[in-house]
Amino acid sequence: MLKKSGNPMDWSYADKTLLGIGMSFSLFALFFSIASIPFIFPAMNYASNMEAVRFTLVFSAVCMTVWAVFFAIVWKTRKSHPDSMLPGTIQVYLFGAPLMVMAVLNGIHSMVTGLLLASAPIFGLILFNNSRHVVLASILNWLGIILIGVAVNQGLLPDAPLYVKGDTPYANNILLLIQIIIGLPSALLVSLIVISLVHGLRTREKKILELSRRDGLTGVWNRRYLMERLEHEIAVSRRSKKPLSLIILDLDFFKRINDQYGHTTGDKVLIQAAQTLQTSIRDIDHLGRYGGEEFVIILPFCDADMAAVIAERCRQNIEAIAIEIDGNRIPVTSSFGVTTLPAGMHASGDALTHSADLGLYEAKAKGRNCVVSKPADAQ
Ligand code: GH3
Ligand code: MG
Ligand code: MG
Repeated sequence: MLKKSGNPMDWSYADKTLLGIGMSFSLFALFFSIASIPFIFPAMNYASNMEAVRFTLVFSAVCMTVWAVFFAIVWKTRKSHPDSMLPGTIQVYLFGAPLMVMAVLNGIHSMVTGLLLASAPIFGLILFNNSRHVVLASILNWLGIILIGVAVNQGLLPDAPLYVKGDTPYANNILLLIQIIIGLPSALLVSLIVISLVHGLRTREKKILELSRRDGLTGVWNRRYLMERLEHEIAVSRRSKKPLSLIILDLDFFKRINDQYGHTTGDKVLIQAAQTLQTSIRDIDHLGRYGGEEFVIILPFCDADMAAVIAERCRQNIEAIAIEIDGNRIPVTSSFGVTTLPAGMHASGDALTHSADLGLYEAKAKGRNCVVSKPADAQ
Protein backbone atom coordinates (compact mmCIF):
# COMPACT_ATOMS: atom_id res chain seq x y z
CA MET A 1 0.00 0.00 0.00
CA LEU A 2 1.23 3.45 -0.87
CA LYS A 3 1.60 5.73 2.09
CA LYS A 4 -1.00 8.51 1.94
CA SER A 5 0.85 11.71 1.13
CA GLY A 6 -0.04 15.37 0.82
CA ASN A 7 0.81 15.18 -2.87
CA PRO A 8 -2.43 14.58 -4.86
CA MET A 9 -0.35 12.70 -7.47
CA ASP A 10 0.06 9.87 -4.94
CA TRP A 11 -3.63 9.68 -4.05
CA SER A 12 -5.87 6.79 -5.13
CA TYR A 13 -8.08 7.30 -8.20
CA ALA A 14 -11.08 7.58 -5.87
CA ASP A 15 -9.48 10.41 -3.87
CA LYS A 16 -8.38 12.20 -7.03
CA THR A 17 -11.96 11.95 -8.29
CA LEU A 18 -13.19 13.51 -5.05
CA LEU A 19 -10.78 16.40 -5.64
CA GLY A 20 -12.12 16.86 -9.18
CA ILE A 21 -15.72 16.72 -7.95
CA GLY A 22 -14.88 19.32 -5.32
CA MET A 23 -13.58 21.63 -8.04
CA SER A 24 -16.67 21.16 -10.24
CA PHE A 25 -18.93 21.70 -7.23
CA SER A 26 -17.10 24.91 -6.34
CA LEU A 27 -17.58 26.23 -9.90
CA PHE A 28 -21.32 25.61 -9.74
CA ALA A 29 -21.41 27.20 -6.29
CA LEU A 30 -19.76 30.21 -7.94
CA PHE A 31 -22.46 30.42 -10.61
CA PHE A 32 -25.17 29.93 -7.99
CA SER A 33 -23.75 32.83 -5.98
CA ILE A 34 -23.53 35.09 -9.02
CA ALA A 35 -27.12 34.27 -9.99
CA SER A 36 -28.23 35.05 -6.43
CA ILE A 37 -27.00 38.65 -6.67
CA PRO A 38 -30.16 40.09 -8.29
CA PHE A 39 -32.30 38.39 -5.66
CA ILE A 40 -30.18 39.65 -2.77
CA PHE A 41 -29.83 43.14 -4.28
CA PRO A 42 -33.06 43.71 -6.24
CA ALA A 43 -32.35 47.42 -6.34
CA MET A 44 -29.65 46.77 -8.93
CA ASN A 45 -32.30 46.28 -11.58
CA TYR A 46 -31.42 43.01 -13.24
CA ALA A 47 -35.01 42.63 -14.37
CA SER A 48 -34.35 42.31 -18.11
CA ASN A 49 -32.37 39.14 -17.40
CA MET A 50 -34.47 37.73 -14.61
CA GLU A 51 -35.62 34.74 -16.60
CA ALA A 52 -32.07 33.68 -17.44
CA VAL A 53 -30.95 34.42 -13.92
CA ARG A 54 -33.70 32.23 -12.45
CA PHE A 55 -32.80 29.42 -14.87
CA THR A 56 -29.11 29.69 -13.90
CA LEU A 57 -29.98 29.57 -10.22
CA VAL A 58 -32.09 26.43 -10.59
CA PHE A 59 -29.68 24.79 -13.04
CA SER A 60 -26.69 25.43 -10.71
CA ALA A 61 -28.62 24.10 -7.71
CA VAL A 62 -29.54 20.91 -9.60
CA CYS A 63 -25.93 20.44 -10.76
CA MET A 64 -24.61 21.04 -7.22
CA THR A 65 -26.99 18.36 -5.97
CA VAL A 66 -25.87 15.92 -8.69
CA TRP A 67 -22.19 16.54 -7.87
CA ALA A 68 -22.91 16.19 -4.14
CA VAL A 69 -24.58 12.80 -4.73
CA PHE A 70 -21.66 11.74 -6.98
CA PHE A 71 -19.26 12.85 -4.22
CA ALA A 72 -21.18 10.83 -1.61
CA ILE A 73 -21.12 7.67 -3.76
CA VAL A 74 -17.39 7.91 -4.47
CA TRP A 75 -16.73 8.75 -0.80
CA LYS A 76 -18.65 5.62 0.28
CA THR A 77 -16.79 3.36 -2.17
CA ARG A 78 -13.33 4.96 -1.92
CA LYS A 79 -12.08 2.30 0.50
CA SER A 80 -13.54 -0.72 -1.30
CA HIS A 81 -12.71 0.53 -4.85
CA PRO A 82 -9.79 2.94 -4.46
CA ASP A 83 -8.39 2.30 -7.95
CA SER A 84 -11.55 2.04 -10.04
CA MET A 85 -11.15 4.15 -13.19
CA LEU A 86 -14.90 4.65 -13.66
CA PRO A 87 -15.59 7.64 -11.33
CA GLY A 88 -12.48 9.46 -12.58
CA THR A 89 -13.49 8.93 -16.19
CA ILE A 90 -17.03 10.23 -15.51
CA GLN A 91 -15.49 13.22 -13.72
CA VAL A 92 -13.22 13.99 -16.70
CA TYR A 93 -16.23 14.00 -19.07
CA LEU A 94 -18.40 16.12 -16.77
CA PHE A 95 -15.71 18.61 -15.78
CA GLY A 96 -16.42 20.69 -18.87
CA ALA A 97 -20.13 21.07 -18.07
CA PRO A 98 -19.84 23.97 -15.58
CA LEU A 99 -17.42 25.67 -17.94
CA MET A 100 -19.95 25.52 -20.76
CA VAL A 101 -22.51 27.12 -18.44
CA MET A 102 -19.86 29.76 -17.78
CA ALA A 103 -19.57 30.24 -21.54
CA VAL A 104 -23.29 31.00 -21.82
CA LEU A 105 -23.35 33.26 -18.76
CA ASN A 106 -20.30 35.37 -19.54
CA GLY A 107 -20.59 35.39 -23.28
CA ILE A 108 -19.15 32.86 -25.65
CA HIS A 109 -16.35 35.21 -26.81
CA SER A 110 -15.15 36.15 -23.34
CA MET A 111 -11.47 35.64 -22.61
CA VAL A 112 -12.25 34.25 -19.15
CA THR A 113 -14.39 31.57 -20.75
CA GLY A 114 -11.67 30.66 -23.20
CA LEU A 115 -9.02 30.35 -20.51
CA LEU A 116 -11.22 28.22 -18.26
CA LEU A 117 -12.14 25.92 -21.10
CA ALA A 118 -8.53 25.48 -22.09
CA SER A 119 -7.71 24.34 -18.56
CA ALA A 120 -10.51 21.77 -18.41
CA PRO A 121 -8.80 18.72 -19.92
CA ILE A 122 -5.46 19.37 -18.19
CA PHE A 123 -6.85 18.24 -14.84
CA GLY A 124 -7.82 14.84 -16.24
CA LEU A 125 -4.43 14.47 -17.87
CA ILE A 126 -2.48 15.29 -14.70
CA LEU A 127 -4.73 13.47 -12.25
CA PHE A 128 -5.77 10.34 -14.10
CA ASN A 129 -3.32 10.00 -16.95
CA ASN A 130 -6.05 8.44 -19.13
CA SER A 131 -5.26 10.61 -22.13
CA ARG A 132 -7.73 8.91 -24.54
CA HIS A 133 -10.72 9.93 -22.42
CA VAL A 134 -9.26 13.38 -21.77
CA VAL A 135 -8.87 14.00 -25.51
CA LEU A 136 -12.41 12.75 -26.20
CA ALA A 137 -13.83 14.87 -23.36
CA SER A 138 -12.00 17.93 -24.69
CA ILE A 139 -13.35 17.37 -28.21
CA LEU A 140 -16.88 17.08 -26.80
CA ASN A 141 -16.30 20.29 -24.82
CA TRP A 142 -15.20 22.19 -27.85
CA LEU A 143 -18.09 20.85 -29.94
CA GLY A 144 -20.46 21.94 -27.18
CA ILE A 145 -18.93 25.40 -27.16
CA ILE A 146 -19.20 25.71 -30.94
CA LEU A 147 -22.88 24.66 -30.76
CA ILE A 148 -23.56 27.20 -28.02
CA GLY A 149 -21.80 29.86 -30.10
CA VAL A 150 -24.01 29.06 -33.12
CA ALA A 151 -27.16 29.07 -30.92
CA VAL A 152 -26.20 32.50 -29.52
CA ASN A 153 -25.58 33.86 -33.02
CA GLN A 154 -28.95 32.53 -34.19
CA GLY A 155 -30.69 34.24 -31.28
CA LEU A 156 -31.70 30.89 -29.75
CA LEU A 157 -29.75 31.60 -26.55
CA PRO A 158 -29.34 34.98 -24.81
CA ASP A 159 -25.87 36.46 -25.16
CA ALA A 160 -24.11 36.76 -21.80
CA PRO A 161 -27.29 37.15 -19.71
CA LEU A 162 -25.38 37.47 -16.47
CA TYR A 163 -22.95 40.01 -17.79
CA VAL A 164 -23.05 43.29 -15.92
CA LYS A 165 -26.15 45.11 -17.13
CA GLY A 166 -26.99 47.59 -14.42
CA ASP A 167 -28.73 50.90 -15.17
CA THR A 168 -25.77 53.14 -14.45
CA PRO A 169 -21.97 52.86 -14.62
CA TYR A 170 -22.02 52.99 -10.82
CA ALA A 171 -24.32 49.93 -10.62
CA ASN A 172 -22.17 48.18 -13.24
CA ASN A 173 -19.05 48.71 -11.16
CA ILE A 174 -20.71 47.47 -7.98
CA LEU A 175 -21.88 44.35 -9.81
CA LEU A 176 -18.40 43.76 -11.20
CA LEU A 177 -16.92 44.12 -7.71
CA ILE A 178 -19.40 41.63 -6.28
CA GLN A 179 -18.57 39.14 -9.05
CA ILE A 180 -14.85 39.53 -8.34
CA ILE A 181 -15.39 38.98 -4.60
CA ILE A 182 -17.44 35.85 -5.26
CA GLY A 183 -15.18 34.57 -8.05
CA LEU A 184 -11.83 35.06 -6.31
CA PRO A 185 -12.05 32.12 -3.86
CA SER A 186 -12.90 29.78 -6.72
CA ALA A 187 -10.05 31.09 -8.88
CA LEU A 188 -7.67 30.82 -5.91
CA LEU A 189 -8.75 27.25 -5.20
CA VAL A 190 -8.17 26.15 -8.79
CA SER A 191 -4.79 27.96 -8.89
CA LEU A 192 -3.67 26.39 -5.61
CA ILE A 193 -4.57 22.91 -6.83
CA VAL A 194 -2.66 23.44 -10.09
CA ILE A 195 0.37 24.82 -8.21
CA SER A 196 0.29 21.87 -5.80
CA LEU A 197 0.06 19.36 -8.68
CA VAL A 198 2.93 20.93 -10.62
CA HIS A 199 5.03 21.15 -7.45
CA GLY A 200 4.27 17.47 -6.75
CA LEU A 201 5.40 16.49 -10.25
CA ARG A 202 8.62 18.50 -10.00
CA THR A 203 9.46 17.03 -6.57
CA ARG A 204 8.85 13.51 -7.86
CA GLU A 205 11.01 14.14 -10.94
CA LYS A 206 13.83 15.43 -8.75
CA LYS A 207 13.57 12.39 -6.47
CA ILE A 208 13.69 9.98 -9.42
CA LEU A 209 16.68 11.75 -10.93
CA GLU A 210 18.48 11.65 -7.57
CA LEU A 211 17.67 7.93 -7.13
CA SER A 212 18.95 7.12 -10.62
CA ARG A 213 22.30 8.62 -9.65
CA ARG A 214 22.73 6.86 -6.31
CA ASP A 215 24.19 3.49 -5.40
CA GLY A 216 21.44 1.40 -3.81
CA LEU A 217 23.52 -0.04 -0.98
CA THR A 218 25.71 2.82 0.21
CA GLY A 219 23.81 5.89 -1.00
CA VAL A 220 26.93 7.44 -2.61
CA TRP A 221 26.95 8.29 -6.37
CA ASN A 222 26.84 5.32 -8.71
CA ARG A 223 29.44 4.59 -11.35
CA ARG A 224 27.45 5.98 -14.29
CA TYR A 225 26.83 9.36 -12.67
CA LEU A 226 30.37 9.50 -11.31
CA MET A 227 31.84 9.10 -14.80
CA GLU A 228 29.48 11.80 -16.13
CA ARG A 229 30.60 14.05 -13.28
CA LEU A 230 34.27 13.30 -14.00
CA GLU A 231 33.96 14.46 -17.64
CA HIS A 232 32.22 17.63 -16.39
CA GLU A 233 34.93 18.33 -13.79
CA ILE A 234 37.68 17.75 -16.39
CA ALA A 235 36.07 20.42 -18.59
CA VAL A 236 35.75 22.82 -15.62
CA SER A 237 39.38 22.17 -14.62
CA ARG A 238 40.59 22.92 -18.14
CA ARG A 239 38.55 26.10 -18.45
CA SER A 240 39.46 27.42 -15.00
CA LYS A 241 43.11 26.32 -15.33
CA LYS A 242 42.96 24.55 -11.97
CA PRO A 243 44.25 21.03 -11.17
CA LEU A 244 41.87 18.08 -10.68
CA SER A 245 42.63 14.89 -8.76
CA LEU A 246 41.14 11.43 -8.76
CA ILE A 247 41.36 8.72 -6.10
CA ILE A 248 40.46 5.06 -6.59
CA LEU A 249 40.43 2.85 -3.53
CA ASP A 250 39.69 -0.79 -2.94
CA LEU A 251 39.05 -2.52 0.39
CA ASP A 252 41.72 -5.08 1.22
CA PHE A 253 40.92 -8.79 1.43
CA PHE A 254 37.24 -8.02 1.35
CA LYS A 255 36.42 -11.50 0.12
CA ARG A 256 37.75 -12.80 3.42
CA ILE A 257 35.34 -10.56 5.38
CA ASN A 258 32.45 -11.95 3.33
CA ASP A 259 33.66 -15.53 3.72
CA GLN A 260 34.35 -15.23 7.44
CA TYR A 261 31.42 -13.11 8.66
CA GLY A 262 28.84 -13.43 5.91
CA HIS A 263 27.57 -11.18 3.12
CA THR A 264 25.37 -9.09 5.42
CA THR A 265 28.35 -8.11 7.53
CA GLY A 266 30.26 -7.42 4.29
CA ASP A 267 27.47 -5.05 3.29
CA LYS A 268 27.64 -3.36 6.68
CA VAL A 269 31.39 -2.79 6.19
CA LEU A 270 30.74 -1.30 2.72
CA ILE A 271 28.11 1.11 4.13
CA GLN A 272 30.42 2.11 7.00
CA ALA A 273 33.34 2.59 4.60
CA ALA A 274 31.21 4.86 2.38
CA GLN A 275 30.11 6.95 5.38
CA THR A 276 33.69 7.22 6.63
CA LEU A 277 34.93 8.35 3.21
CA GLN A 278 32.12 10.89 2.89
CA THR A 279 33.11 12.54 6.16
CA SER A 280 36.82 12.46 5.24
CA ILE A 281 36.51 14.54 2.06
CA ARG A 282 35.61 18.16 1.29
CA ASP A 283 32.07 19.33 0.46
CA ILE A 284 33.03 19.96 -3.16
CA ASP A 285 34.41 16.42 -3.68
CA HIS A 286 32.35 13.63 -5.26
CA LEU A 287 32.37 10.15 -3.79
CA GLY A 288 30.98 7.19 -5.73
CA ARG A 289 30.96 3.41 -5.68
CA TYR A 290 32.88 2.24 -8.71
CA GLY A 291 32.29 -1.50 -8.33
CA GLY A 292 31.88 -4.14 -5.59
CA GLU A 293 34.25 -2.81 -2.91
CA GLU A 294 35.90 -0.11 -4.98
CA PHE A 295 35.23 3.59 -4.51
CA VAL A 296 36.21 6.65 -6.54
CA ILE A 297 36.63 10.21 -5.28
CA ILE A 298 36.77 13.18 -7.67
CA LEU A 299 38.64 16.13 -6.15
CA PRO A 300 38.08 19.37 -8.07
CA PHE A 301 40.64 22.22 -7.66
CA CYS A 302 43.00 19.82 -5.90
CA ASP A 303 46.74 19.43 -6.67
CA ALA A 304 48.81 16.25 -6.22
CA ASP A 305 50.09 17.14 -2.71
CA MET A 306 46.63 17.93 -1.38
CA ALA A 307 45.19 14.77 -3.02
CA ALA A 308 47.84 12.61 -1.31
CA VAL A 309 46.98 14.21 2.05
CA ILE A 310 43.24 13.58 1.55
CA ALA A 311 43.85 9.97 0.42
CA GLU A 312 46.05 9.34 3.47
CA ARG A 313 43.35 10.78 5.73
CA CYS A 314 40.77 8.45 4.14
CA ARG A 315 43.11 5.47 4.57
CA GLN A 316 43.59 6.18 8.28
CA ASN A 317 39.88 6.75 8.89
CA ILE A 318 38.95 3.47 7.18
CA GLU A 319 41.58 1.66 9.24
CA ALA A 320 39.89 3.11 12.35
CA ILE A 321 36.46 1.67 11.45
CA ALA A 322 35.31 -0.40 14.41
CA ILE A 323 32.73 -3.03 13.52
CA GLU A 324 32.53 -5.85 16.05
CA ILE A 325 31.06 -9.32 15.57
CA ASP A 326 30.81 -11.51 18.69
CA GLY A 327 33.32 -9.30 20.46
CA ASN A 328 35.85 -9.56 17.60
CA ARG A 329 36.77 -6.38 15.78
CA ILE A 330 36.79 -6.84 12.01
CA PRO A 331 40.00 -5.38 10.57
CA VAL A 332 39.20 -3.08 7.62
CA THR A 333 41.96 -1.56 5.51
CA SER A 334 42.11 -0.18 1.99
CA SER A 335 44.58 0.59 -0.79
CA PHE A 336 44.64 3.84 -2.75
CA GLY A 337 45.67 4.96 -6.22
CA VAL A 338 45.84 8.73 -6.79
CA THR A 339 46.37 10.76 -9.94
CA THR A 340 46.26 14.47 -10.73
CA LEU A 341 45.46 16.37 -13.90
CA PRO A 342 47.77 19.44 -13.77
CA ALA A 343 46.26 22.92 -14.22
CA GLY A 344 45.23 23.71 -17.80
CA MET A 345 45.94 20.18 -19.10
CA HIS A 346 43.50 17.77 -20.68
CA ALA A 347 42.93 14.03 -20.34
CA SER A 348 39.89 11.83 -20.85
CA GLY A 349 37.99 10.40 -17.90
CA ASP A 350 39.11 6.92 -18.93
CA ALA A 351 42.78 7.99 -19.04
CA LEU A 352 42.58 9.50 -15.54
CA THR A 353 40.85 6.41 -14.16
CA HIS A 354 43.51 4.24 -15.77
CA SER A 355 46.35 6.24 -14.15
CA ALA A 356 44.69 6.07 -10.72
CA ASP A 357 44.13 2.34 -11.26
CA LEU A 358 47.84 1.85 -11.90
CA GLY A 359 48.49 3.50 -8.51
CA LEU A 360 45.95 1.19 -6.85
CA TYR A 361 47.52 -1.87 -8.47
CA GLU A 362 50.95 -0.82 -7.19
CA ALA A 363 49.55 -0.16 -3.69
CA LYS A 364 48.13 -3.71 -3.62
CA ALA A 365 51.47 -5.11 -4.83
CA LYS A 366 53.36 -3.16 -2.14
CA GLY A 367 51.40 -4.99 0.58
CA ARG A 368 48.09 -3.02 0.70
CA ASN A 369 46.83 -0.41 3.21
CA CYS A 370 48.85 2.37 1.57
CA VAL A 371 48.59 5.27 -0.94
CA VAL A 372 50.41 5.40 -4.29
CA SER A 373 50.30 8.50 -6.54
CA LYS A 374 50.77 8.30 -10.30
CA PRO A 375 51.15 11.11 -12.84
CA ALA A 376 48.26 11.49 -15.27
CA ASP A 377 48.69 10.77 -18.96
CA ALA A 378 47.71 14.32 -19.94
CA GLN A 379 48.39 16.83 -22.74
P1 GH3 B 1 42.14 -7.38 -2.59
O1 GH3 B 1 42.79 -6.92 -1.32
O2 GH3 B 1 43.14 -7.88 -3.57
O3 GH3 B 1 41.27 -6.34 -3.14
O4 GH3 B 1 41.28 -8.64 -2.20
P2 GH3 B 1 39.70 -8.71 -2.18
O5 GH3 B 1 39.30 -9.95 -1.49
O6 GH3 B 1 39.14 -7.45 -1.62
O7 GH3 B 1 39.36 -8.70 -3.72
P3 GH3 B 1 38.40 -9.54 -4.58
O8 GH3 B 1 38.15 -8.73 -5.85
O9 GH3 B 1 38.90 -10.94 -4.78
O10 GH3 B 1 37.04 -9.59 -3.78
C1 GH3 B 1 36.09 -8.62 -3.80
C2 GH3 B 1 34.86 -9.20 -3.15
O11 GH3 B 1 33.84 -8.21 -2.95
C3 GH3 B 1 34.22 -10.28 -3.94
C4 GH3 B 1 32.73 -10.05 -3.85
O12 GH3 B 1 32.05 -11.15 -3.33
C5 GH3 B 1 32.63 -8.92 -2.87
N1 GH3 B 1 31.54 -8.01 -3.17
C6 GH3 B 1 31.29 -7.33 -4.29
N2 GH3 B 1 30.17 -6.59 -4.18
C7 GH3 B 1 29.69 -6.82 -2.92
C8 GH3 B 1 28.55 -6.34 -2.20
O13 GH3 B 1 27.74 -5.54 -2.68
N3 GH3 B 1 28.37 -6.79 -0.94
C9 GH3 B 1 29.24 -7.67 -0.36
N4 GH3 B 1 29.02 -8.07 0.88
N5 GH3 B 1 30.32 -8.14 -1.03
C10 GH3 B 1 30.54 -7.72 -2.28
MG1 MG C 1 39.45 -5.65 -2.56
MG1 MG D 1 38.06 -5.10 -5.95
